[in-house]
Amino acid sequence: MKDAKLVVKSESHQNTIVHLSDHVAIGGQKIVIIGGPCTVESLTQMETVAQHLQFAPVQALRGGVYKPRTSPYAFQGMGLEGLEILAEVRKRYEMPIVTEVMAISQIEEIAACADMLQIGSRNMQNFDLLKAIGQANKPVLLKRGLASTIEEFVMAAEYIMSYGNPNVVLCERGIRSFDPYTRNVLDLGAVVALKQITHLPVIVDPSHAAGKRELIADLSRGAIACGADGLIIECHPEPDKSVSDARQALTLDDMVNLVRSVKPVAEAIGRQVYEIQRPQLAIA
Ligand code: PEP
Ligand code: MN
Repeated sequence: MKDAKLVVKSESHQNTIVHLSDHVAIGGQKIVIIGGPCTVESLTQMETVAQHLQFAPVQALRGGVYKPRTSPYAFQGMGLEGLEILAEVRKRYEMPIVTEVMAISQIEEIAACADMLQIGSRNMQNFDLLKAIGQANKPVLLKRGLASTIEEFVMAAEYIMSYGNPNVVLCERGIRSFDPYTRNVLDLGAVVALKQITHLPVIVDPSHAAGKRELIADLSRGAIACGADGLIIECHPEPDKSVSDARQALTLDDMVNLVRSVKPVAEAIGRQVYEIQRPQLAIA
């Protein structure tokens, strides 16, 4: 990894903090939790999610509007209409938004209404996209490739940083292996290694790693115990009706319970969680 000049730590305490908003930052003392559906399906769906999750508290919302689907016949995402929904929910609930960018041509429109641009697993080595996102003025969530080595992952982040964008968060989301019981294998060893090698924040996506909702809460707590700076988790008002990744979607109540259960684990390793922000009462 000797070529990774910008991503590798130059001293042991070097630690990058990536700000999603004035109130939410990834890589500091506090664990950040991002939640929401795999795919944006309607304004009602996203509002229901935001209403439930804001007091969990979840710090940012996710939802894809451009979806990388295995089949060309599967729903490909709502596109611009979905982006308008995200922009509306962002404004109404004052929660930062994370959504996936699949092509260079989408960067400008997505950057106009999202707070963090996600590069999906399938695009981790789309080098032209990495170079373009490196020139965007927004934080990036870089997901580990489906079967990428730690070195390839680090070098993908190096592409983004070397093109001028220092605000990169790494996301371990499981890697391919032989056993179909779990969708992928969650590589917590990589989380520990990446925290040691790089100065970038590292978060974990247990949803795409496990592929089964009943595994997600325990994997989430394990990830925090291993030093992850946050979690990104899929949930849905009616999980079985999710247009994509239904089997791994949590109910909103399960999501709230999961968030609360992370607190003692975070505190046991000297980290904190975000406390519930009460809505400001208007002063008459
Ligand atoms: C997603 O976040 O919905 C997604 C497609 O993730 P990944 O790129 O990790 O498969
Ligand atoms: Mn998904």
